[in-house]
Amino acid sequence: MERILVPGGLGRLKARQLVSIVSALRKRFGTVTLAPLSKMTQTEAESFLTSLPGVGPKIAKCVLMYTLKHKVLPVDIHVHRLATRLGLQTKKRPDTSQELIESAVPPELRYSFHVNAIAHGRTLCLSRRPKCGRCPIFKWCQYPLNRGSKH
Ligand code: SF4
Repeated sequence: MERILVPGGLGRLKARQLVSIVSALRKRFGTVTLAPLSKMTQTEAESFLTSLPGVGPKIAKCVLMYTLKHKVLPVDIHVHRLATRLGLQTKKRPDTSQELIESAVPPELRYSFHVNAIAHGRTLCLSRRPKCGRCPIFKWCQYPLNRGSKH
């Protein structure tokens, strides 16, 4: 497992955490599964997930959204950067902006906002030198205005 995880970085740590998670799931549910979380409330599932080794609020939100289909919005660096540039109210870091950004995006748009912000952040809305001239959402964005860009 460690060998597989090494290319993503922190292979040894992640492998150890995954083994601990497997043990914790087996202890709680009798087998290695997340299926029982679908019967929990969102708050209960989030609380259980963040009790697992190495699982922080963002990872828990990702599991809630991708696996359990809850209408939450995990805020990573791309979501945070795009939200800030669009003019949503944010704080300095993704983790401290989680609640602000999530509550500003309607539940039915959160999944789409998350996946599209990541794709956009990797291709056009780059951290340095965003490609605003090619951006399809240019006219809704505050960033070029604030920077005085002409496109
Ligand atoms: S206009 Fe520029 S800063 Fe705004 S979303 Fe598009 S690429 Fe990002």
